[in-house]
Amino acid sequence: MTGALRGVVALDGPSGTGKTTVARKLAGRLSARYLDTGAMYRVVTLAVLRAGIDLADEHAVGALAHDVDFSLGTDPERPDVRLAGEDVAAEIRGPEVTGAVSPVSAVPQVREVLVARQRRMIADAVEGDGGIVVEGRDIGTTVAPDAPLKVYLTASAEVRAARRNTQDSAAGRASSVESARESVERRDRIDSTRAASPLRAAGDAVQVDTSELTIDQVIVALAELARGRGLLGDCPAEPAAAEAGVSR
Ligand code: C5P
Repeated sequence: MTGALRGVVALDGPSGTGKTTVARKLAGRLSARYLDTGAMYRVVTLAVLRAGIDLADEHAVGALAHDVDFSLGTDPERPDVRLAGEDVAAEIRGPEVTGAVSPVSAVPQVREVLVARQRRMIADAVEGDGGIVVEGRDIGTTVAPDAPLKVYLTASAEVRAARRNTQDSAAGRASSVESARESVERRDRIDSTRAASPLRAAGDAVQVDTSELTIDQVIVALAELARGRGLLGDCPAEPAAAEAGVSR
């Protein structure tokens, strides 16, 4: 049994490490809110593409990020994503947005606008002893550097490509392991070398290699870490955590 989460769990890592699934399920299990910051960068990217803005025009991209009308739900059961009221949850995962999201995310003004909004959403969620699981690339380093639990998920390039390929195929998108690998490696390269809050583990993040773990093992390990930090109240330990091989 686990209790309700109080405070922020920051979950970072490159694509294909299981972040989104883990964060959402963990939030559900801990009766917490859930914030998918990648969805925010994706919805801004969709707006940029629809507006026909040149991705190299940082000024125009930044200005659009400032004005774009979108909403993002924090209920892990129903994390709605809407652009001007339209449900775009499926479209933001498509190849056009995936191919353009990293250059858009590297624009400093885009990050400024979205990070401010993420911080407001986190503050709302934790008000009155609430909890939230926040996933992204810069949560532990920039968005919520005071989070009481920071986790950095990793997995081998092969495993990450295979997971993305499975997800894409399941969603009916054309994919192969090779194209998925190229895509995750390209995004990781841009995300980790950009000047504005690049992808990296916070110094005090717990690193969890998910290559050999099931989603459930990762969730159990993370819930145990949260319990160990006193974020779940006084709950008994889950025996499966020891098997998950978490390095602190
Ligand atoms: O997590 P997801 O794969 O949906 O993220 C899509 C992209 O959004 C990432 O490749 C990255 O370019 C950007 N992103 C970011 N900072 C975050 C979350 C996502 O730059 N906190």
